[in-house]
Amino acid sequence: METAATISAFDVYTLRENFPILHRRLNGKQLVYFDNAATSQKPQVVIDALTNYYSNYNANIHRGIHTLAEEATAAYEATRGTAKNFINAASAEEIIFTRGATEGINLVAYTWGRKNLHEGDEIIISGMEHHSNIVPWQIVCEEKKAILKVIPITPNGELDLDAFKKLLSSKTKIVAVVHASNSLGTINPVGQIIDEAHKAGALVMLDGAQSTVHLDIDVQDLDCDFFAFSGHKVYGPTGAGVLYGKKNILEAMPPFMGGGEMIKEVTFEKTTYNDLPYKYEAGTPNIADTVALKSALDFVTGTGKENIRRHEDALLNYATEQLKTINGLTIVGNAKQKVSVVSFSVKNIHPQDLGVLLDNQGIAVRTGHHCTQPVMDYFKIPGTVRASFAMYNTREEIDKLVTGLHKAIKMLS
Ligand code: PMP
Repeated sequence: METAATISAFDVYTLRENFPILHRRLNGKQLVYFDNAATSQKPQVVIDALTNYYSNYNANIHRGIHTLAEEATAAYEATRGTAKNFINAASAEEIIFTRGATEGINLVAYTWGRKNLHEGDEIIISGMEHHSNIVPWQIVCEEKKAILKVIPITPNGELDLDAFKKLLSSKTKIVAVVHASNSLGTINPVGQIIDEAHKAGALVMLDGAQSTVHLDIDVQDLDCDFFAFSGHKVYGPTGAGVLYGKKNILEAMPPFMGGGEMIKEVTFEKTTYNDLPYKYEAGTPNIADTVALKSALDFVTGTGKENIRRHEDALLNYATEQLKTINGLTIVGNAKQKVSVVSFSVKNIHPQDLGVLLDNQGIAVRTGHHCTQPVMDYFKIPGTVRASFAMYNTREEIDKLVTGLHKAIKMLS
């Protein structure tokens, strides 16, 4: 819920003071960080949480009875509670800690997929998937002789929903789609996709790597069966992420990895598995980063997702308007609903050359295929320049990008 206090508290210049890296200078210029879709910068509270953990209560979790072990366990489990609320899961048992979205998707493909897919079954993904939501399904398809189908994209960078409906059949076992595209910015109509898939008897996995930082996520309202995201894109540390799965589905799946923590009883004859969520968390997990992820999620909630969204939407609109004034520049991905990601190419100039010249001016953008090679193939381009905006970016920084681009284009033409 947004309150008057949270709205007036959102002042981007004050907010920026929470992010020490934003003081960094590059080549004598103030850093302009527009590579947020790759990873976002960390507020001081997240950095402090990491230091505090290692300075004061570093211990292995769950098994110890000493004070440090109890404190570490409590902090680790507190993140689970916060993550549950952050995406509105029905219970903390449905929150599995992973290294990130990639591991979450692989977990589902390897466990649910291996158990439930058979020869001739179909998996539907989309033409705008990150390689992380393509390759695990290809691997399981090869092993189980299942078939991968792909929802085509349109020139605007949206999904062709009519084509999707035609792909669905009783053979479809799972639909795995990206909630918000990292290379096009498109927010997909996942509510409709989930409805249609469920009507056909298929499960739905959402890749929430890009959506979780920008949109309100309510997995119960969405009714998705699985949802994966990475903490490092939500202002948290690298190596800590979340896989959500509906309890009854997670309970029926085999474990992902075997080892400590995921067992109840082990004998050489037979092993019984631990309850959710521990069944999927073999071995010593990434305790420090998972503990600090709580501070990141609390920071986002405290800033107010609605405030952040409004600010980022304004940045996206302003950047889109300004970039369109540059001769020869084409925006790739013009969906009606977008997160604050803008990809573009400039006629006769390789994106990498632009990236290098922008970096010389202190502006960090991403160039290349963004791990979505099929998207680049569809648009018949080698890659794009991508500027992606976070809560701490400003209009002045977009002005610097536009000025920087004019300079770079002049030098390269
Ligand atoms: N899916 C999408 C849409 C992404 O943008 C990314 C990260 N670029 C991933 C999956 C993979 O996330 P990670 O590398 O954090 O596992």
